[in-house]
Amino acid sequence: MSSPASRLPSLPPALRFAHAAPSRADLHAHIERMKRSRQYFSITTMPAPFAAWSPLLKNAHMETRACHCSVSRVHLLACGHRVAVPRNAERCAANCAGMEEVLKTRSPEVQDDMLAAIKKVNGAGPLGLQAYVATWVKWNVAGAMDRIHGLREAFNEMSFFHQRPRPDVASGEFSCQMCEKKGLRESLPVFVLEALPWACVVVVRDGDNWAVVQELEKGVLPDPTVRKRSMKKNSSQNRILNGRITKHRVEEKKGVLGKLREESLVEEWGNMGL
Ligand SMILES: [Zn+2]
Ligand SMILES: [Zn+2]
Repeated sequence: MSSPASRLPSLPPALRFAHAAPSRADLHAHIERMKRSRQYFSITTMPAPFAAWSPLLKNAHMETRACHCSVSRVHLLACGHRVAVPRNAERCAANCAGMEEVLKTRSPEVQDDMLAAIKKVNGAGPLGLQAYVATWVKWNVAGAMDRIHGLREAFNEMSFFHQRPRPDVASGEFSCQMCEKKGLRESLPVFVLEALPWACVVVVRDGDNWAVVQELEKGVLPDPTVRKRSMKKNSSQNRILNGRITKHRVEEKKGVLGKLREESLVEEWGNMGL
């Protein structure tokens, strides 16, 4: 994967993190807020007995596994970057790497052997598979029966129709802001944060999200422990600063601020259980 540009000129500028990189507490608060407002996507997972490569049967427009069954909100491009589409899941484009590439990187249980088998079967259809198996039997290939059995299992587990690459070539390629490549279809850079409890697709819509991704790419993890105190203090102060204080005269402001400090101090002590 090529290294991302240090700043993406096509994005709206950062407001929250314009002057300093987000702290670990900021990362946590920001990510939680974005998840709540659904601006960051949740990662699609399949309950047992489904496999990682099973298609999503309900709400397929919400799929976030990259290029999954050729329709997703997230795509892995041939350049190596992952991108999100603006809204609901869209079909893959000609510059998508495709589901197979994604499975290789995401699912250790998808072995090369199995992928090779899927490819062969996809390429040749049922008749091709029969011919393929018949050759093994005819030539008495060592372990042929085991391999046939394995292939059958793979066959039963998979709905090959869904795994076949079906890019929507007519609509054009996806743009990639990281490569500064312009395509007919709009896309946003993403960072897939798999660590719990966050587990989400960070969608880069502006400079603030980009600042978050840059920290995550350095390996910095959000810190949930300091969130409560800092958020509470900020929100109560902002509310009063925006509302009541502006109505008072300047002399009174000082007094109010002093009281506020006391209040927040008492509140903090309260939080600390004193
Ligand atoms: Zn795709
Ligand atoms: Zn790219």
